[in-house]
Amino acid sequence: MAIDTESVQRGAQQHLWMPNRDWTRMGEEGGPIVVVSGEGVKVTDSEGKTWIDVNGGSGSVNVGYGRNEIVEAAYKQALTLSFRPQQTTTEASVRLVEKLAQITPGKLSRSFPVSGGSEAVETAIKIARSYHGRRGDKSRYKIVSRRGSYHGATAATIWLGGDDNKKREDYEPSPTGLIYVPQPNPYHCEFGAQTTSECAVKCAEAVEQQMLFHNPDTVAAFIGEPVSTSQGASVPGDEYWPMVREICTKYGVLLIADEVVTGFGRTGKMFGSEHWKLEPDIMAVAKGIVSGYVPLGAAIATEEVAGVFAGEGREFRHGFTNMGHPVAAAAGLKNIEIIESEGLVENSAVVGAYFKEQLEGLMLDHAIIGDVRGIGMIVAAELVSDKETKAGFEPDLKIAELLNEGFKKHGLLYHVSGTGVLSMNPALCITKDEVDEIVHAVDLTLWEVEGKLGLAKSL
Ligand code: PLP
Repeated sequence: MAIDTESVQRGAQQHLWMPNRDWTRMGEEGGPIVVVSGEGVKVTDSEGKTWIDVNGGSGSVNVGYGRNEIVEAAYKQALTLSFRPQQTTTEASVRLVEKLAQITPGKLSRSFPVSGGSEAVETAIKIARSYHGRRGDKSRYKIVSRRGSYHGATAATIWLGGDDNKKREDYEPSPTGLIYVPQPNPYHCEFGAQTTSECAVKCAEAVEQQMLFHNPDTVAAFIGEPVSTSQGASVPGDEYWPMVREICTKYGVLLIADEVVTGFGRTGKMFGSEHWKLEPDIMAVAKGIVSGYVPLGAAIATEEVAGVFAGEGREFRHGFTNMGHPVAAAAGLKNIEIIESEGLVENSAVVGAYFKEQLEGLMLDHAIIGDVRGIGMIVAAELVSDKETKAGFEPDLKIAELLNEGFKKHGLLYHVSGTGVLSMNPALCITKDEVDEIVHAVDLTLWEVEGKLGLAKSL
């Protein structure tokens, strides 16, 4: 039955609280777009128009839309048993955590299933702090994170990292014990390093310096994404992760890898950590674990870490009603099976490299592209107003708005904010032809935006 688009939009304008969106403006623009179906990397809206979903949901729909096998697995589980009584589990939940133990790097082996990325990170932080406490070391509570990273939206995780575009003042007061270190983003190295390698070494050294400054005996954990998505697909130099691992081990600090985005094939390996043989103590996962079919995530710890919670009176006092949900577990298992059986990790590596090459090609025509970066199916083009200073565009120019208008006109469901980092994370099943469609639409959009801003080819 056809959907009454206007009535749904009116309902949204009056009653729906959408993330990072002002409903007054949304109403003036005649939004929001109402989507009704999807297949692969594309979705169709209630007016019958088909769009490419450039960010695959929120960098989350790894296997693509319309995978009936996942829906059937979830349906079958819901029909047989939709939930579980307290202090019991289900086969689906156990098979999922067994699978996670098998495919995650290093010695990660025990999963605390949750419903999303913020819960996974929040859980990881609580595990890290209580791990030290359980071992009699109650002085360790500080958390080291990288400036500019995003790790979640809960009252604690929102304070980790700190993306400049997302103001934190609404959420004061900040928790105590947060230490910020530089982001190993070679394009904007805080140390002005001339090479990726130099930036990686300097940023890793800064981790040690900050720990020493704050007294390493008070530090509980370091958290970082193997490849920073909030920095627009910024890939650190090869020295970074081995050095950070060594520093954490040296000072008894737990290393938390936030693989909420980078997990499940996104970077061209099953987990981003694998690029540097990184063995985290705790890993946070979500998004690609179930490709957005239902909510799911997990905090996964090594047995060394989880082991301190074993024994009478040592239980981890933490939980969510929907954790280990059998329907989500069944869907997650089927999703991982598809990623493995259809070679989506490899497709992410191969087609992702092609995607990056095509974006690099655009640099010849568009002088406003200052940098193209990424690995696997996490790629980005950064727009700059000045190639020397690498400065973004003045907010008054409203470049994000101009870009968003262009993307919409050219068939992309793609929204950027800030001063112009085009970060793209489509479904891993994307083909080269579909990449071409995206790149062509970005090309056309850039021509139009440059025209409107009166920008010459040679910046
Ligand atoms: N960690 C990273 C790196 C993320 O990008 C996100 C969300 O985008 C989160 C954590 C939080 O995940 P969620 O939105 O599922 O709570």
